[in-house]
Amino acid sequence: AKAMGRNKYCAFSKELTLRAARQLSLENELRNALANQEFELYFQPQVHINSSEICGMETLIRWQHPSKGLQYPDQFIDTLEETGLIVPVGEWILKESCRLVSSWLKAGLPPIKVAVNISARQFTDPGFLRSVEKTLAATGLPTEYLELEITESMVMGNIDESFELLQKLRELGVTLSIDDFGTGYSSLSYLKSLPVDILKVDRSFVMDIPNSQSDMEITAAIIAMAHKLQLKVVAEGIENPEQHDFLNQNNCDYGQGYLFAKPLTQKELIEVLNKQRLE
Ligand code: C2E
Ligand code: CA
Ligand code: CA
Ligand code: CA
Repeated sequence: AKAMGRNKYCAFSKELTLRAARQLSLENELRNALANQEFELYFQPQVHINSSEICGMETLIRWQHPSKGLQYPDQFIDTLEETGLIVPVGEWILKESCRLVSSWLKAGLPPIKVAVNISARQFTDPGFLRSVEKTLAATGLPTEYLELEITESMVMGNIDESFELLQKLRELGVTLSIDDFGTGYSSLSYLKSLPVDILKVDRSFVMDIPNSQSDMEITAAIIAMAHKLQLKVVAEGIENPEQHDFLNQNNCDYGQGYLFAKPLTQKELIEVLNKQRLE
């Protein structure tokens, strides 16, 4: 009924009615997906740019749909966000990431950090800080192994409140990074006071290197500026050696992309961790 109401102006359009019905069934399927354990975590390794050694990984969610097969976030994240389902699902992602990494550390695998994407709804949920604290305590993951990825727009919505939250998360010992840096519309002036540790340069800046002179200049400038502000830089979406070389020459700290590894299943990640060096 909610989906029908939202689309009332198009009540006579067959196609839109169909779309609304599809959206509603997606919502219902997602409601059950968590309980039915249909979500799976993949991990994409991150490397030190200058050595290609693994230093961390990013958790990326997948949905193993009972009939449609493996679904990627662009097919369901927006719906999770719109329905608020991202709060319990996000909590599960955080808990499961910490639990797995903690168990790998205990099993003696090379220690690396895990970066978890946090959605806007999760970040502004009043229980978020508490849930991070509880998760760290319950899984026994040392806090320095957890990184949280947030976006500029999440912070800019309510600067005072989010600064305070970021401050408290940092006091826990958690690392904070700004995801998709450069794609938001916020001003640079807030950056100097933002309590974060890492900037993630968005893939859209990396993808046309070395062909786009302006993207190379922007990327080099972001790295230089970040370093002046004592921030580390991760470049995402590195697909070829030219991009890797450029980023290395410009002192980018960390990298992530298909050149090093695609998002991996747990089993694949463990194999890679035992090898350590990618490329
Ligand atoms: P993101 O956080 O910017 O994640 C990076 C995306 O780029 C991932 O897509 C990853 O598979 C892809 N990628 C990595 N390296 C390369 C590369 O070299 N080339 C290309 N073409 N792509 C690359 P994915 O997994 O489909 O995730 C898409 C977005 O969905 C993420 O963007 C993030 O915003 C969201 N997302 C994924 N997992 C989670 C999650 O657990 N929680 C939340 N809240 N959002 C998530
Ligand atoms: Ca991310
Ligand atoms: Ca990103
Ligand atoms: Ca991105």
